Formats: sequence, structure tokens, C-alpha cells
Amino acid sequence: MTQSSPKSRHPGRVISLANQKGGVGKTTTTVNLGAALALQGYKCLIIDMDPQGNASTGLGSYAMERQNTVYDALSGGCLLSDVIIPTPVDNLYLAPGSVDLSGLDTELHDDSGRATKLRSLLYERSSKPVHGEYDYVLIDCPPSLNLLTVNALSCSDALVIPLQSEFFALEGLTQLLSTVRTIQNGLNAGLRITGIVLTMYDHRNRLSRQVAEDVRENLSDITFKTMIPRNVRLSEAPSHGVPALVYDANCAGSRAYLDFALEFLQRDQAISGK
Ligand code: ATP
Ligand code: MG
Repeated sequence: MTQSSPKSRHPGRVISLANQKGGVGKTTTTVNLGAALALQGYKCLIIDMDPQGNASTGLGSYAMERQNTVYDALSGGCLLSDVIIPTPVDNLYLAPGSVDLSGLDTELHDDSGRATKLRSLLYERSSKPVHGEYDYVLIDCPPSLNLLTVNALSCSDALVIPLQSEFFALEGLTQLLSTVRTIQNGLNAGLRITGIVLTMYDHRNRLSRQVAEDVRENLSDITFKTMIPRNVRLSEAPSHGVPALVYDANCAGSRAYLDFALEFLQRDQAISGK
């Protein structure tokens, strides 16, 4: 796929993709938004904060072949820049996650700075800084409002919430929004919500249409216009270790993620004033 020449803005925007509900399309959205932005010429880093490591495997990285992961950086063993590796997409980089991340909550229990570990790593003044090196840093969060998600939200400029177009879609959203408010009132006053993106939308399914309508009606100002359709190519791509945008650039899912990336850029630029 042709790509535009790299832009030299490096606004260093940090975006979390979070929803404590499992299997709603957080990782698929992180990987394909990252790929779409990279193909547009933005230099992007995906940080995999999920012990499941799905973003890492979906980008062709297998933890056992590697020495350092985000876990090693968060637990003080190395710099964040030491774990960053290239991906099959030019301009797209990965800080891989691993199963060790699941023990971090307990390990850091007595550490008063535990909620801001990722922020310290991102903004670390070292010979190999991370923030400022990338136009966009996207953080794939685990399906929980645990210490890992709190770390992600504490260092993010904004949050994208993937919401599955199915029954119970809104379940848990109140709790997520209340966590966002708590973080805004304490650890990160600057945290904004870029928007809610509806995923796995099936226009032939009445329930899917109904959920999309409900969300648009109740949360119209923060819901993205672009909806990601249910598309089998999106679910096949991870087993090939590449984003859907590389696996099949013309499938309906890839085209939707390209549209979504453009809408995301517009909203993010409006929020950040850049
Ligand atoms: P978890 O909470 O476990 O981290 P998640 O929110 O990151 O999950 P994904 O892993 O992105 O969700 O998606 C869950 C499953 O649904 C995966 O198998 C993925 O390939 C598939 N999937 C995601 N989006 C779509 C889509 N639009 N169409 C078809 N399948 C999809
Ligand atoms: Mg995931």
C-alpha cells in the first residue's frame, strides 16, 4: 500500500483505548487505528498494556522471542524506549505487553507512585525519550478498570471508547465514565474523551441497528459517525500478525478504519487545538 511521506509534527498525543467490558473491539481498533494513522504518515507507537498481549501478537510480536516488554519497563528493569520494536507497517512501532503485567498490581502495592508509572516512563528525560518521538501513542487497555488502565488514563490526553453494537453495550459505561471523572479530579485533569466508536455493527441485524440508534440518541455529541462493521477479515488478520489494513486493505472493515482514522484526526485536532 502506498503511504504518504512522514509528517514532522510530532504533537505527541497520547490516546487510551479503553472499556472494561471484554471483547468489544479495543485491540482491533487500536491496531487498525495505529496502522491507518501510520499509513497517513503519522509516526505511531502502540503500547500494549493488556496481559493478554493481543495487540502484540496481532502485530507479529511473540513475547517469548523477546527479552523486554512493557512489564520490564513498568517494574523498573529498563527504559520504555528499550522495549520498542518496529512492526510490519512503516511508521508504526510497538511496546509489547506480556502475561507478567497481570502481577503488576500486587507487585507495586506498596509503591506510592504506582498509578503514574507509565507517565514517568513516557516523559522520562533520557537519551532515548519516548514522548515527542511519536505523533500518536495509542494505549491498548485490558478489559478491567485496574491499575494498568489507571496508568494508561493517567498519562493520556484523551480516551477512545470502543462499544460493541450488541445488547448490554452500555453496561459498564457509567462506571467507566465515573472512573474518567475520578482521574480528571486527581491524577490527570487534562484527560478528555475523544469519542465512542461503535464496533461490530451489523446493519442486517435489528438489535445492532437499535443499539446504534440508542447510543446516538443518548450520547450524540461524543459518538463517532463512522461505525465499524462486523467483518470477518478484521478477525482473521491477527492470526497473520498484521493489521487488517495490511491483510486486506479493501475489505469493508479496513475501509471503515480508514474513515474512522480521518474522523478521529479531525476530532483530536479540535480537542487539542493543534
Ligand atoms: P479484550 O477485552 O479481551 O481485550 P477487545 O475489546 O480488545 O477484547 P478485540 O480483541 O478487538 O476486543 O475483539 C474481540 C474479538 O472480536 C476478536 O476475536 C476480534 O478479532 C473480533 N472482532 C473485533 N472487531 C470485529 C469486527 N468489527 N468484525 C468481526 N470481528 C471483530
Ligand atoms: Mg484487547
